[in-house]
Amino acid sequence: MSNAALVVFSGGQDSTTCLFWAMKKFTNVEAITFHYNQRHKSEIECANLIAQKWNIPHKVLDMGLLSQLAPNALTRNDIEIRAGEAGALPSTFVDGRNLLFLSFAAIAAKQKGIRHLVTGVCETDFSGYPDCRDIFIKSLNVTLNLAMDYPFVIHTPLMWLDKADTWELADQLGELEYIRQHTLTCYNGIPGEGCGQCPACKLRNAGLIKYMERRGKT
Ligand code: ZN
Repeated sequence: MSNAALVVFSGGQDSTTCLFWAMKKFTNVEAITFHYNQRHKSEIECANLIAQKWNIPHKVLDMGLLSQLAPNALTRNDIEIRAGEAGALPSTFVDGRNLLFLSFAAIAAKQKGIRHLVTGVCETDFSGYPDCRDIFIKSLNVTLNLAMDYPFVIHTPLMWLDKADTWELADQLGELEYIRQHTLTCYNGIPGEGCGQCPACKLRNAGLIKYMERRGKT
């Protein structure tokens, strides 16, 4: 089996950091992006541009069914983006998203003889998403291996990093500036530094400031 990996790739900070991480670790890297009627088509455009620039074979898969079943703030303009209060999940949570994305990624990977899957899920800056937890990923890894009788390995390089640590990893990979300028994390669809106001921008920018302060000291 080849030393190849398939990265679940959205064009955001986290999955782009994972893409560079995979490019250091594996000889062949491919990417898969899921289109589920996100509010901003610019996410898909960002993912396309990054994949083209780095010569990464890239597949965009239509998962519109997901937003038909589970309307949420990422796919519907009439649902407000808000953080979860008092134990509630944020309005950006999409039931089953990582379960489905990783399952489809695994099917696509096996077709190509790829057994390594890479995803940017993270338990540290835990927004309350149950399918970002390490225990869920480990459980799904076992399930996928049993379902397809195939030795998948799901890699989660960001699992125990906070946003400042993720910027540090980008810096160690030599791509901090690239990721800063060319990825899209903002819920309002603005690439790079973003709108600065939405929860995703606040988390991303606070992490960058924290890391830059830390780097300044060493
Ligand atoms: Zn924003």
